[in-house]
Amino acid sequence: MKNLLMIPGPIEFNPEVLTEMGKQTLSHVSGEFIDIFAASLEMMKQVWQCPDGQAFIMAGSGTLAMDMAGANLVETNDGILVISTGYFGERYAELLARYGADCHIISARPGETVPAEIIEDELKKGKYKMLTFTHVDTSTAVRVDPEPLGQLGRKYGVLTVLDGVCSVAGEEIKQQEWGIDIVLTASQKAVGVPPGLALLVASQKAMDAFHKRKSPVMNYYADWTHWLPVMKAYEEHRPAYFGTPAVNLVSALNISLKQILSEGLEKRFIRHGLTASAIRSGLKTLGLKQIPSDNIAANTLSAPYYPEGVKAAEFIGEMKKAGVIVAGGLLPELRNKYFRIGHMGKITTEEAIAVIQALEAALDKLNYNFDKGSGVKVAKDVLESLS
Ligand code: PMP
Repeated sequence: MKNLLMIPGPIEFNPEVLTEMGKQTLSHVSGEFIDIFAASLEMMKQVWQCPDGQAFIMAGSGTLAMDMAGANLVETNDGILVISTGYFGERYAELLARYGADCHIISARPGETVPAEIIEDELKKGKYKMLTFTHVDTSTAVRVDPEPLGQLGRKYGVLTVLDGVCSVAGEEIKQQEWGIDIVLTASQKAVGVPPGLALLVASQKAMDAFHKRKSPVMNYYADWTHWLPVMKAYEEHRPAYFGTPAVNLVSALNISLKQILSEGLEKRFIRHGLTASAIRSGLKTLGLKQIPSDNIAANTLSAPYYPEGVKAAEFIGEMKKAGVIVAGGLLPELRNKYFRIGHMGKITTEEAIAVIQALEAALDKLNYNFDKGSGVKVAKDVLESLS
């Protein structure tokens, strides 16, 4: 039996997406591929809900998407306010400093967010060009509400950058309406395509800031000076070249974006919300505490603590024996105290139930005392409201 891959990315992918990956590779300057690329750029703007934005598709991972925003928008001594709700926020400050940014980081305690008033007080100082935050930090499963931060960006004339690697196409994002200047992600999570694509949509305000740079971009590969003409050419169905695109991955992206839009964004977000709530309820019923409280818990992954007496390596091994692969902890200070379950993308109700079933089997093997079947029952009850 094949194990279910339930880590927070890469995830289980749709068979149609995987089939597309295995097809004969097209020439990257062929009319057929240019049409696929153009359609993918257009569909990204729909999924990101940013009709006037500039989409970029590049070969690379989510880290490249973060790097792209940093390299193209930051100049030496620019003040950047980084809001951190976990590992990926801390890392963004480190990345931005490479481009000479003067970073000020406000870090929330694990499982918490930084209140908007604290962010506003800092922005009032008038030192900042950019505000970055992680929509869902994959190390803590904490979800930040992007809308008020977009408003603050507008109010103080600051560019806003949302790391949506663990949220785009799984959590609601209205980039344009909310005034977020950059929304970036990677292919392997809720977008539903194997790892290898860095995806980003920039607002016109962000593109203006890029055009107004006084110094050259300090990163050769990520420089929009090279890539913007390529994206523009593809949009106009013309061939262009800077670096060879990841042809098969882009073709797979085209399939996945079509599936996402045909499901409907609203329906998709509701489905993610219900799946998350079923899994969280199952965990709670089994007595497992979670890092974030319910009101700020992500819909794309969960981060439960191990119960007393259950050891990380043994538990993950037993989960695998029960057919489900989950991820260990990532936040250095809590690494061996919790694990992570990804529940995004195509995840079905059967797969969500299978996770709780495996969890019960693993906990039972490790002699944890609980009411057998209770987690599965609660999860099923929640999911029933979906059908
Ligand atoms: N940001 C967040 C929130 C992430 O979850 C990840 C990956 N787990 C990254 C950035 C980095 O993405 P990648 O591993 O694709 O480089």
